[in-house]
Amino acid sequence: MTLFAKIIRREIPADIVYEDDEVLAFRDINPQAPVHVLFIPKQPFATMNELTDADAPIVGRLVIAATKWAKAQGFAEDGYRVVMNCNRDGGQTVYHIHLHLLAGRAMHWPPG
Ligand code: 5GP
Repeated sequence: MTLFAKIIRREIPADIVYEDDEVLAFRDINPQAPVHVLFIPKQPFATMNELTDADAPIVGRLVIAATKWAKAQGFAEDGYRVVMNCNRDGGQTVYHIHLHLLAGRAMHWPPG
């Protein structure tokens, strides 16, 4: 079981900021911006490569949950960045897919 599955099961503590039937969101333990929240599906896909057409709704739920939360928090107009890392070259370290929501400062491009 991954770390994030344990967070879903409340076996590891996390600063949870949003939850619905399919999505959980909590603050990243090592924030890379003033706001750094991870949105994860409760269904445990290891990487984005496992997603199929049938999973489009859950990916949509992740994105919409993040945008709704950004608006509710008041930084949507200033802007934010969402990132999903896949496998080694993408920089993925936890093998339960997650969307990073980063905000609170101007982001750099290219991301490196
Ligand atoms: P990845 O590198 O896989 O895209 O992102 C994994 C993220 O999970 C990293 O930003 C890392 O800081 C975060 N992370 C790792 N372990 C924990 C933890 O125990 N709790 C929380 N809240 N975040 C974690």
